[in-house]
Amino acid sequence: MANPGDFAYTVKQQADIVRIVGEYMTLRKSGAQNFQGLCPFHQEKTPSFSVHATRQFFHCFGCGASGDVFSFVQKIENITFPESVRLIAEKLKIPLPKMSYSSPEEERQAGMRVGLIEIHERACKFFQEQLRRPEAAHAREYLASRGIAPEIIAEFRMGYAPDSGFLLRDALRGQYDEALLRESGLFSWKDKGDEAADHDAVLYSKFRNRVMFPIANESGKVIAFTGRTLSTDEKAGPKYLNSPETPIYSKSRVLFNLDKAKESIRKLEYAILVEGQMDCISVYTAGFRNVIASSGTAFTELQARLLGRFSKNIVVNFDPDTAGAAAAERSLALLVSEEFQIKVLTLEAGFDPDLYIRRKGVAAYGEALSHSQKYFDYLIERGQREFPYRTPQGKVSAVNWLLPHFQRVPNPVVRSELANEICSKLAIDTETLRREVRSALIWRRISQIDKEKRNPLTDAERVLIRALASQELSHSAVSEREGQDLDFEPARQAHFALSRERLHAGSAAEALIDALLVGQEQGIDPMSLALEEDARSLLATVLMDEHEELTPELLESAIRSLRKRRGEHDLEQLQRKVKELESRPDVMSKAQLAQERLRLKQAMRSGEITTTEGHS
Ligand SMILES: [Zn+2]
Repeated sequence: MANPGDFAYTVKQQADIVRIVGEYMTLRKSGAQNFQGLCPFHQEKTPSFSVHATRQFFHCFGCGASGDVFSFVQKIENITFPESVRLIAEKLKIPLPKMSYSSPEEERQAGMRVGLIEIHERACKFFQEQLRRPEAAHAREYLASRGIAPEIIAEFRMGYAPDSGFLLRDALRGQYDEALLRESGLFSWKDKGDEAADHDAVLYSKFRNRVMFPIANESGKVIAFTGRTLSTDEKAGPKYLNSPETPIYSKSRVLFNLDKAKESIRKLEYAILVEGQMDCISVYTAGFRNVIASSGTAFTELQARLLGRFSKNIVVNFDPDTAGAAAAERSLALLVSEEFQIKVLTLEAGFDPDLYIRRKGVAAYGEALSHSQKYFDYLIERGQREFPYRTPQGKVSAVNWLLPHFQRVPNPVVRSELANEICSKLAIDTETLRREVRSALIWRRISQIDKEKRNPLTDAERVLIRALASQELSHSAVSEREGQDLDFEPARQAHFALSRERLHAGSAAEALIDALLVGQEQGIDPMSLALEEDARSLLATVLMDEHEELTPELLESAIRSLRKRRGEHDLEQLQRKVKELESRPDVMSKAQLAQERLRLKQAMRSGEITTTEGHS
């Protein structure tokens, strides 16, 4: 793709593939011209990814990924060829000519991403400036009260979003399309339904009266924000408000602070993982530069891969036992199955990393860090604490509790070693139980583990679960709305749709939703329902992750989407049956099926009609 005379050719001549690849992952010299590392494109434990320094190409002997410096950057950043040329040119400080694209759509997409990144950079500067103004005194006081020094405010580019919803818009207006401003996730608007209406008047800032923490991608470009409210009024929205997903920001792909931490992670050969951004900033400020945050939600596979490029050793500094337990457990489960070497740092009860460092000091934190415990040792100790493992019955319970955690380890040799460890630490001396532990671990039940790995819920299902679990909240919330949306009872509305149409049948959340429905009928608080472990962690994950307000529109569109999925699924099954029967001369059932199909189509159509009516 790069020919002599091209700009790409010029860039390629100056780019050193070893250096560029080395910015994304750890490479070690393995020959006169070769470097090796763990492949970022597939899951592996021994390096089969090689980079050739003189020939300037890479190849993975595990998955076959291969190419030059541009294909590497394209693949790892998930961008187009022209964008990869541009990105490398920027890294090398080579001035850019005008870009060319292979299709108008590609150009539009790339243009939009560039525009959105510019807008975020502008917004970030704007928030920084606002923080210096007299009106932001309370924001500066808040930061000071959290012990954040001015240098840290500058380094993390913290800012203040003013109370006025229009200042940011006015600062950007005239330079960016309104359509692009809407895509940025920084604004809200009221749809008047009337296109001729004065559009500028309806666009306003999503973030108001908040301390702003920029979220950067791996290369340090600001792509989103978290805003911490300074208002005590509940109508001001959630305490922490995050940017929504946009073409440049996907929460599941970003690790907070990775841009600043990656060098240290590589050098120190491990990462510290904390839950919140404040914890992260605090630990970083204390001098532990290899710290990142998962931002309170469960780790995703993409994030694990991203981090794995720098190191597969991780110290998790959150207590898997406490409030955020479900998200923490899921993160740990995923890290285990992605073959990370995990240690757990447990601080004294009641201390998060931020508080711990402020109260006890940097040295104490460093000391605690050096005493972090191997995850599996931690689990066994917990098993010993929670079950009376000195009795035969207690041993069996402890083993049953431990097995699912240990079964996630992908490597059978490691699992076999772990089986021995369980047996010796729980003092399992009967031959039968010993054998059972070993065989359960060595022949782990693959299907169960696969099920846990996938993220099982759609957005629509999440919304419905939130709605069903909202009955306790909805009473107070409704009265505070001052007359607005008095009729909106999400729990009842969701119950009505789900129990009548069973739209959740076949979903990963079927059992959970059924339990919530029954719970609601019997007036049981969702959090005190007797749920299976899976269902409980599913519920907790959904509730832990509530960022968007539950509105009538959101609920309606979720129900609509489930209905649509159900209709499509039914239609598909029927089509398959019709096809199957067409090959057989069974005319009667074919005619019946054709009729059935027609009926279904009509049902779908009428379903759509009722929902659009409800929306207008
Ligand atoms: Zn590979």
